[in-house]
Amino acid sequence: MQILINIAITIATIAFMEAFSWFIHKYLFHGPLWFIHKTHHQQRHGWFELNDVFSIGFAVLALWLMWLGHTMLDYRFWLGTGISIYGTVYFIFHDWFIHNRFKAFRSTNRYLMGIRRAHKIHHKSTEKNPSEEFGLLVASRKWFK
Ligand SMILES: [Zn+2]
Ligand SMILES: [Zn+2]
Repeated sequence: MQILINIAITIATIAFMEAFSWFIHKYLFHGPLWFIHKTHHQQRHGWFELNDVFSIGFAVLALWLMWLGHTMLDYRFWLGTGISIYGTVYFIFHDWFIHNRFKAFRSTNRYLMGIRRAHKIHHKSTEKNPSEEFGLLVASRKWFK
């Protein structure tokens, strides 16, 4: 039974992270934290950009939770696991597939093409406002046609 609870916590955390990222992207990154996030909407100079501090922050949080829960493998460990999985998927889809931060990886998968289209729309603007499509894994259905 415990295993099912742990899986449920992990999956719920992944889903929560998509909603949470959408929220902070829309209201904080394109709001008071725009001075950091704008580095992701402009031409990158070098491999890193200041916006990466958000990814590092989530990674630290995930590792910290996993560390707290690692002896008992309690809920904190699975929260950290969910954040890590979301972060990894986000990195592969967003940084690698959409922004080609490594050697391009191509796909004709309908889902991947859809989220890329949606995210490119988000990047059409290099300004704080207006912008749309703040989520990553979930986007408006129109981009998947
Ligand atoms: Zn943005
Ligand atoms: Zn992006």
